[in-house]
Amino acid sequence: MGSRQTATDGRSPVRRLGVLGGGQLGRMMALAGVPLGLEFRFLDPAADACAGVAGKVLQAGFDDAEAARAWAADIDVATFDFENVPAATARALEEITPLYPASNALDACQDRLVEKQLLESLGIGVAGYHAVSSRTDLVEGLEKLGYPAVLKTRRLGYDGKGQVVLRDPEDRERAWQKLGDAELILEAFVPFDAECSLVGVRGADGDTRFWPLTRNVHDRGILALSRAGGFEPALQADAEARMTRLMDHFDYRGVLTIEFFFCGGELLANEIAPRVHNSGHWTIDGSDCSQFENHVRAMAGMPLGRTNRAQHALMFNWIGRMPDRERALAVPGLHWHEYGKAPRPGRKIGHATLTADDHGELMANAGRLAELAGGVFPGLVQRLD
Ligand code: AMP
Repeated sequence: MGSRQTATDGRSPVRRLGVLGGGQLGRMMALAGVPLGLEFRFLDPAADACAGVAGKVLQAGFDDAEAARAWAADIDVATFDFENVPAATARALEEITPLYPASNALDACQDRLVEKQLLESLGIGVAGYHAVSSRTDLVEGLEKLGYPAVLKTRRLGYDGKGQVVLRDPEDRERAWQKLGDAELILEAFVPFDAECSLVGVRGADGDTRFWPLTRNVHDRGILALSRAGGFEPALQADAEARMTRLMDHFDYRGVLTIEFFFCGGELLANEIAPRVHNSGHWTIDGSDCSQFENHVRAMAGMPLGRTNRAQHALMFNWIGRMPDRERALAVPGLHWHEYGKAPRPGRKIGHATLTADDHGELMANAGRLAELAGGVFPGLVQRLD
């Protein structure tokens, strides 16, 4: 595991943070970390990586371990803004500079089967699953789990990509034709009452904090809306206990996320992300210390900040298109976040968080923003009331 850094003179010895990936998550880390006196360096294949407004970008492929080594010579500590960092690059970085979270967490999160096995071994409940490498495995899995079921690629799937829902035996061959080239996992379809996620952080000294559980609504596999809090304290405590076991297992440092299905009063883990998470964006405007600032503080060996919900908060994700900014800004309690990315269908290009003093005010303003945004939002926002 990486060495634990302690400041000897009361000031963090870390000045320069390297982020593998220069997308919006890296950008928001830097926007939180620059006021703390830190500098940022990014490595990203794209010349126009949107984090470039807040730090220097080295343009290189993520699988270019040599470039990563050269880049790391110039930084004090490295982190990443996506979990599919190639293992060879992570190992190369770890030879040169502390990497947080460490590659053990990356390894576990890159393969859905390994991830599920780990969660189970730590007593963190998951839906039924079955490893699939052949048509025979798929038939066996469907006999075991029944219909409906979800067939997913074990690696490189995100935002609903690389997965197919099988509703009856007729879907089996179609699903196999679509995904059968890769290693797969079949999951029981969870008839969830809601989806939620827990974002937590562990600092250099082991201090561990959690934001309130966040209720999430997806549209075609992509997060559309997140509302902070509103869950029973016992459920919050349960989720926190599970994440603590995971952090202990990894000897973790930084922000960690678990996505859950809330089903019949129980939590079932869907997946883990060893990083800041889209469902935690509300913390920028709705918490004393955001997930980005606390992640940066953890990287730099600084004390962590408060992870409270300072106000009622609801986040809208802008996917592919955004509503008119000026009209949106007229909605009370609105905080606008544009990522500086060219709009493309399915691409996350910004978000907005509404904050309010009470739930009624929050939902009234959310209704106004949903009307402005149009599309799926007016229907989806009602699911968060
Ligand atoms: P994932 O990429 O695994 O996070 O899946 C994206 C979304 O698809 C989830 O947030 C759920 O809305 C849905 N989904 C994925 N797996 C399942 C499942 N086993 N049962 C029900 N819905 C699922």
